[in-house]
Amino acid sequence: MSHNISNFKSQWENDEVRVNVPFSAAGVGTTIVLTSKFTGKMMMLDVGDGVLRDLLLFGSTDFVDEIDPIAISHGHFDHVGGLHSLLGFMQMLDRKNPLNILIPTDCKQAIGIIKNFRDNYGDSIPFKICNHEMVEGSGFDTDFFKVQSIEVEHYSLEKHSEVEILEPSLGYRVQIGQTLIAYTGDTRLCSGVETIVRDADLAIIEATRRETPSGPRVHLSINEAEDLGKLAKNYMLIHKIPEMPS
Ligand SMILES: [Zn+2]
Repeated sequence: MSHNISNFKSQWENDEVRVNVPFSAAGVGTTIVLTSKFTGKMMMLDVGDGVLRDLLLFGSTDFVDEIDPIAISHGHFDHVGGLHSLLGFMQMLDRKNPLNILIPTDCKQAIGIIKNFRDNYGDSIPFKICNHEMVEGSGFDTDFFKVQSIEVEHYSLEKHSEVEILEPSLGYRVQIGQTLIAYTGDTRLCSGVETIVRDADLAIIEATRRETPSGPRVHLSINEAEDLGKLAKNYMLIHKIPEMPS
């Protein structure tokens, strides 16, 4: 089966902000880039596998210096898989300014990737990596991005036992000038996700399931995501399931 790559890509902009989702597919990778049009400063929401190739398609390596912060929604591989590569590329191109990485508290996968990178490269890393563990209501501001984290409910299903395991998972609201961008991360329907998207200029909403399943609720369905989107001024649906070759 062939796939049109544009199914996994989205874009939105207003006068102040450009939002690029160069790629998002459930179980493969999700990468979201927010760019302040006035300053060129960039922020990332999740860094899935392929993030470097996606960023290089913008036609410049300016992102090496301009990205700050990176906010991680949760530790599943399709949301953090590109972090090691991105740090390596920044090291290779001699980034100097500190990089802030926002992660859900106790998100062992993201913490592990950062620790592993520091352990391997130590003093040869030319920039400071500052990780910040975020909880419900945590804020983090740079001069260009004001970030607030809100807890959502995202489970992993332990296949052998059918036990639901709650992952440390956050969604984010990001203020850039007068523009508010909301990102749900992965979540099932919960009060947190409504708070995240409400009144946002753009809500980026995961819409993994084609239909609302009757069993364990790990993700939003397209219908649920569309209803949530109506709480915001604009919305885009991401993180759909790609059709796998059978
Ligand atoms: Zn997930």
